[in-house]
Amino acid sequence: MAIDNVFRKLVSHCKEYGFVFQSSELYDGLSAVYDYGQMGVELKNNLKKYWWDSMVLLNENIVGIDSSIFMHPTIWKASGHVDAFNDPLIDNKDSKKRYRADVLIEDQMARYEDRVNKEIEKAAKRFGDAFDEEQYRTTNERVMRYQKQHDDLHKRYADALNANDLNELRQIIVDEEIACPVSGTRNWTEVRQFNLMFQTEMGATSEGAMTVYLRPETAQGIFVNYLNVQKTGRMQIPFGIAQIGKAFRNEIVARQFIFRMREFEQMEMQFFVRPGTELDWFEKWKALRLKWHLSLGFGEDNYRYHDHDKLAHYANAATDIEYNMSFGFKEVEGIHSRTDFDLSQHEKFSGKNIKYYDPELKKSYVPYVVETSIGVDRLILSVLFGAYKEEELENGETRVFLKFPPAIAPVKLAVLPLVRKDGLPEMAREIVDEMKFLFNCQYDDKDSIGKRYRRQDAIGTPYCVTIDHQSLEDKCVTLRDRDSMEQERIPIAELGKIVSEKVSLTSMLKKLNKA
Ligand code: ATP
Repeated sequence: MAIDNVFRKLVSHCKEYGFVFQSSELYDGLSAVYDYGQMGVELKNNLKKYWWDSMVLLNENIVGIDSSIFMHPTIWKASGHVDAFNDPLIDNKDSKKRYRADVLIEDQMARYEDRVNKEIEKAAKRFGDAFDEEQYRTTNERVMRYQKQHDDLHKRYADALNANDLNELRQIIVDEEIACPVSGTRNWTEVRQFNLMFQTEMGATSEGAMTVYLRPETAQGIFVNYLNVQKTGRMQIPFGIAQIGKAFRNEIVARQFIFRMREFEQMEMQFFVRPGTELDWFEKWKALRLKWHLSLGFGEDNYRYHDHDKLAHYANAATDIEYNMSFGFKEVEGIHSRTDFDLSQHEKFSGKNIKYYDPELKKSYVPYVVETSIGVDRLILSVLFGAYKEEELENGETRVFLKFPPAIAPVKLAVLPLVRKDGLPEMAREIVDEMKFLFNCQYDDKDSIGKRYRRQDAIGTPYCVTIDHQSLEDKCVTLRDRDSMEQERIPIAELGKIVSEKVSLTSMLKKLNKA
């Protein structure tokens, strides 16, 4: 299946089955803003709970908070967002479309990388077992040429970013002959900076009103509360504070569905450490976070680290965890060693002492911070890509199913009476009435049993039970597994226990803790 096809299918699947809707669709939509439907919200809540529990339950030294979206505007001055939270934008004069200059260049690098990979794939097929990839990379002329084009561009791009040289970014776009995907022309404007923060007014009258920002990240709410939490929670370094909440960015290029939104949700954890130990903690969190993603079961090959070419003004190490979406490997989570930048800035701008007293070292200092920052919506997109499966059945039909880890699936069990008479619906209702206290259940008695299975597959329900005439006598039901489609007969009395074990988030957390 062509890659774009997968993406298109996924987007329409999300709409058709109540995962994601375009916001304000009734009024023709609002660009880069989305709503989660009845299935999407369950998936989202389950993923958030998995993240929250793996941070706050599994780590004695991590606690959570929930800070507000509005904060004192000076916080954003201190953090650097008022002056430096900019993206370089460029317009195509013919299509009037606006792009991020860095994204245009990164896409070009990905094209060179793709060419290298395609050559390698072809050769691997041709040579079979005898293929030596390393040798091929270092001797095949075409591969070496593409690789050099990639590496030269990479270096030039990194230098331009580090020097903040907007003219050079434009020159790269011109020299690489990058064309606008809409007009196909290379008629570009200058590159300009664009601040991504949304502003609004707080207060009753316009004279007395104060300009406030919708937070572009949840992290600052943690920094300005760190001492409150440390003191009231009697936390000792190293310790972490986790938070889940909305963030807002006026993105220049808002495309790719829920990958880049103007209103989105973040799950961030700031880990406070002794100065000098931050890079060890950075490595630890980098490994732990990848392990967490892998625990979702979508395969090691679909993830990779991407170290930053240009470190943000606050960081001394940074990496992204990327997932293999159909439009390339893309960032899902960032892990940043933020030094003492944020806390020192807040100390400076507030004029208050926010140092930590270390009872072991018997001295006060500003802690260093390692952050893990993941976008809930991007996580959902990676999970949807990983879970979406099409499978040809013996009868020639194709079934689409979402292979979510059972604990994450929106609905855990569907209860299906074979026919709508003879007391079967009543028995099914009784089962739902008991099971609904344990996990999310759905009752469905419309259409043939095959159609009902397809509907449950499409929303990723891991288990279905059918109630037939024999159930009335032997008090057993048929349990069907979403992935294998295997069926087994089990007593109704044991249904709750059997399904609870299979869909348990606790088991998933235990596995993660052990791995
Ligand atoms: P990008 O380079 O893609 O703009 P970023 O590096 O600016 O992302 P961070 O500031 O590190 O992103 O934010 C942490 C996480 O928040 C990202 O890894 C991503 O999952 C999520 N995120 C950031 N911007 C958006 C957005 N516009 N829509 C959805 N999620 C986002």
